[in-house]
Amino acid sequence: MSKTKFIFVTGGVSSSLGKGIISSSLAKLLQSRGFSVTIQKFDPYINIDPGTLNPYEHGECYVTEDGAETDLDLGHYERFLNVSTSQSNNVTTGRVYKTVIEKERKGEFLGKTVQVIPHVTNEIKRRIKLLSHNDKYDFILTEIGGTVGDIESLPYIESVRQLRWELGRENTLLIHLTLVPFLSAAGELKTKPTQHSVKKLMESGLNADILVCRTEHELTKEIKQKLALFCNVDVESVIQSIDASTIYEVPILMKNEKLDEVVLNKLNIKTYNKTDLKKWEVFVNRLKFPEKKINIGLIGKYVELQDSYKSILESLIHAGSENKTKVEVISIHSEFIDANQINKEISNLDGILVAPGFGERGIEGKIEAIKCARENNIPFLGICLGMQMAVIEFSRNILKLKKANSTEMNKSTPDPVISLMENQKNITDKGGTMRLGAWECKIDKDSLAYQIYNAEVIYERHRHRWELNEIYKNKLNKHGLKTSGINPKTKLVEIIEYPKNDWFIGVQFHPEYKSTVECPHPLFVSFVKACLVYKKRINNGREQD
Ligand code: GLN
Repeated sequence: MSKTKFIFVTGGVSSSLGKGIISSSLAKLLQSRGFSVTIQKFDPYINIDPGTLNPYEHGECYVTEDGAETDLDLGHYERFLNVSTSQSNNVTTGRVYKTVIEKERKGEFLGKTVQVIPHVTNEIKRRIKLLSHNDKYDFILTEIGGTVGDIESLPYIESVRQLRWELGRENTLLIHLTLVPFLSAAGELKTKPTQHSVKKLMESGLNADILVCRTEHELTKEIKQKLALFCNVDVESVIQSIDASTIYEVPILMKNEKLDEVVLNKLNIKTYNKTDLKKWEVFVNRLKFPEKKINIGLIGKYVELQDSYKSILESLIHAGSENKTKVEVISIHSEFIDANQINKEISNLDGILVAPGFGERGIEGKIEAIKCARENNIPFLGICLGMQMAVIEFSRNILKLKKANSTEMNKSTPDPVISLMENQKNITDKGGTMRLGAWECKIDKDSLAYQIYNAEVIYERHRHRWELNEIYKNKLNKHGLKTSGINPKTKLVEIIEYPKNDWFIGVQFHPEYKSTVECPHPLFVSFVKACLVYKKRINNGREQD
């Protein structure tokens, strides 16, 4: 294919309809036909990136290979497509305005009044086109965050309108995702909200080419015809997106609805391969019909909100499918854990995962859970703060440094086993200043980590400020806590393990950002396997009693 085609995805009627999943599913279908595809997301909020947002506000912050702190939808893009995204794949209004204002200060618009149109829209268009340089991609999908009609989305909608005009109809396509609600009192699906939201688009000079309709019930032929007639689209361009039992089923549903075929037809693309979703279908089949089951306790302080630990939950799903196992995640709020409660809780758990996090709230509960895992030989995975808490637990209970802590939680602790690196000490800005993105880690050949990765050098993504304090490293090692992964340049500790137990690992990085459907992350795969072994051992023990 000679020229990059742009597919824009907008949303109407309601937020949380799953634009990210629909975009990822369409991208997957196009990719499976042999096209090169990427997805980008434009978010209409003023933060430069979601890095400074509380997980309650915006769910998890996803980190890319190049160290961008991004929207969690980028996680879906990578998990579905198995290709890396970058800073250019997520742009916010804050970032757009920052560039425009910096240019103004440099005098680049000298003499002119700087305005939303054309200056802000030009910057948005420049960023939309950024990924199309070198014609690397056949398709670029651009998801516009928010809902059509929001004041803050307007500059994006206008930019899409201009781009469609500039690039030509034949090179662009607009998919509008809407909701067709079911009114149980009337026993009917309602098309009016969709009609209104398409009208809203039209007021801004945009026509939808394809409607993807979220629905709880099958759309009848009549409903599709009605939607087509009132929304100015062909009947075959009304695509039903019915609720699925797992997001991973959506590409298959979209294939059955022929979403990708309609897209290719509309863009007048005549030569393409058949879709090949064989591997994907094997994955979904294993997911839906598991042979075994385990319970993993997820200890965190944002457990009320599923999206806070999105990538971890998805990684466990990938690893579960790989092991033909249903992974039931039991969320346990770290703030309410004490020794009694966790000791009762463990009879129901086959593994313990202590989540990443920031700040003091809930850390004593995490430490208690780790102690319980270590003393009872329960498979344990600690991620980032989870690893730091494992070091504190070990220092307090084995090294007998009763007040050991991280200086994040207690600046004047006598034993700062987790501390700030010199180059972090003078940083005052919070945004974008953590240790971010992919860093090298060298693994000790005589370790569990090496068996798991089967590699001596790995690259994993980071998002944290504090580190294991070098001064305590030898003492920890001497008492049995192995530091099995080290950054070769900075000598920072990236992996710890406790070989006395069967499976006890803490990682300073975030393996969850790199797990995809095609390549489930080895750490999670091995963790699930260890939980299965543990469950079998415990059950055998029970039978003999
Ligand atoms: N708060 C810790 C730090 O900044 C851990 C961060 C995390 O878990 N992502 O080092």
